[in-house]
Amino acid sequence: MPLGWYDLKVAAARPRAGDEAVKRKTLNAAFDVFVRIPLVAKALARTPCYNARMISVEEALERILARVGTLGEEQVPLTRALGRVLAHAVSSTLDLARLEIAGRIAAGHVADKPLTAGQAFRIFTGGPLPDGADSVIPQEEVTTEGTTLLVARPVKAGEFVRPRGEDMRAGESVLERGRLIGPAELGLLAALGHAQVRVVRKPRVGILSTGDEIVDLGGLLGPGQIPNSNTYSLTGQVIEAGGEPVPLGVAPDRLEEIEARFRWGLGCDLLISSAGVSVGEHDFVKAALEKLGAEQHLWLVNMRPGKPIAFATIPSTGKGALPVFALPGNPVSAMVTFELFVRPALRRLGGHARLQRPVVQARALAAIPNPGRRRGFLRVALTADESGGYGARLTGDQSSGILRSMVAADGLAVIPGDSTIAAGEMVPVILLREVR
Ligand code: AMP
Ligand code: MG
Repeated sequence: MPLGWYDLKVAAARPRAGDEAVKRKTLNAAFDVFVRIPLVAKALARTPCYNARMISVEEALERILARVGTLGEEQVPLTRALGRVLAHAVSSTLDLARLEIAGRIAAGHVADKPLTAGQAFRIFTGGPLPDGADSVIPQEEVTTEGTTLLVARPVKAGEFVRPRGEDMRAGESVLERGRLIGPAELGLLAALGHAQVRVVRKPRVGILSTGDEIVDLGGLLGPGQIPNSNTYSLTGQVIEAGGEPVPLGVAPDRLEEIEARFRWGLGCDLLISSAGVSVGEHDFVKAALEKLGAEQHLWLVNMRPGKPIAFATIPSTGKGALPVFALPGNPVSAMVTFELFVRPALRRLGGHARLQRPVVQARALAAIPNPGRRRGFLRVALTADESGGYGARLTGDQSSGILRSMVAADGLAVIPGDSTIAAGEMVPVILLREVR
């Protein structure tokens, strides 16, 4: 065990044989180490000034979402739209593809016949509308092929309406903005004639791992080195949340290198780093962000695992400020803080109507203790019974370095600090995936 401050104090006061004064000093020092200092430390930890720096999960999320907006849109072919988010409400008004040009009406002349379905008249300014006409469309917006009129853009109700189908009234909104496009939505969009769909742009997310000890895939592990797993679990989480991961590699614990990697990512819509965010001598992530002009909005959050998590924004010209999350390094802490904070922000960027994971009530199959003072987000495996109810059980050791307990987890049980959910009691669980 390395010498800490307390050990040094005792070592300095070690007695020479027969020296009474030194003996007394040693006793005093021992009293300090084993009684006084722990008591003072405990009292300090409970004082409001220490706790004031630690904010609640809710407050943290509020500060984050207040600074994240939804991205712009892009057009994609219908066949590429699965899993994307609609950027606009879609109404049942149809695109009018082809109309027969059945006549012309000049100013001062009246049509010699009524307009019937599927027909159009060319009409000049000042000409009276013929019977049967719904509306007028400017000629700049259409093209002709011989006697056929082609209308390429979607036509709005009241402008050039042609309702079809009994289950939808023309102009009625059938798909709302922010809707996730699934197979049924694809079918409906096709039925309404949309070969192209306008969807919210996918957020590009830079992912940076930091740490002198971290070796990426393909490298040989030396003594004291650790394989990079965070980049890959975070990559998976980004894709699952609808983002596009942009790898920024592994930076050693050096201010300039971390800053340089962040610079690579300035074109992204959001940045994530892992590790190096505590108050250790080798923790440079916050300093690197400061050098990039970032404004920090939170640091300590009242949760376990994953207390130190920084959220900052880097001001940029042309678009909104770039949100940056500096997550803790422990593999489980990184994943859990992603779930609670990065995912909702990413979903907001991506235009999703629903930002949060669903929460279910589950019955504890065995006691679930949360001994620490911080609110626990503990890994649980869920079972579903025939009546649709859930049972929850801890996945094992809750240490924040144990990825296997995350692999086994279907959800995170939310438990207040210093409390235990007894077997048989109900507990809220954030669902991370479908229960298999
Ligand atoms: P830190 O937040 O820098 O104190 O790191 C906390 C712990 O997480 C240390 O044991 C690191 O070795 C570990 N760690 C940091 N980055 C990674 C990573 N990319 N993959 C796996 N473990 C990591
Ligand atoms: Mg470190």
